[in-house]
Amino acid sequence: MDSKESLLDEIKRLMDELMRESGMEVFGEVHVKIADIEDLALIKGNDIYFSTKVKELPRDVLKYIIAHELAHLIVKRHAFKFWEVVRNMCPDYEKGMNKLSEILRRR
Ligand SMILES: [Zn+2]
Repeated sequence: MDSKESLLDEIKRLMDELMRESGMEVFGEVHVKIADIEDLALIKGNDIYFSTKVKELPRDVLKYIIAHELAHLIVKRHAFKFWEVVRNMCPDYEKGMNKLSEILRRR
């Protein structure tokens, strides 16, 4: 199994976990892809793309990124409701978010 495949498996597993734990439901099927993109993740319709770069991130940071992208399936903008959806999926998301900004600052 190549590293792209195992990364995709890990992301899908975390995604299922987040959705199951929060009882979140999205309309239609969500497709996840690994791509060589500049951003860590981006969303197009129901397709979520993750950069190969997320491979190096700690698990709680990756979990936050996944929750963030999933929440965009429900709320497009970073409004109050958006962060409510993120928190519902990942109650300690702020830890992952802060860790991520710390990592990005150090780059
Ligand atoms: Zn966002």
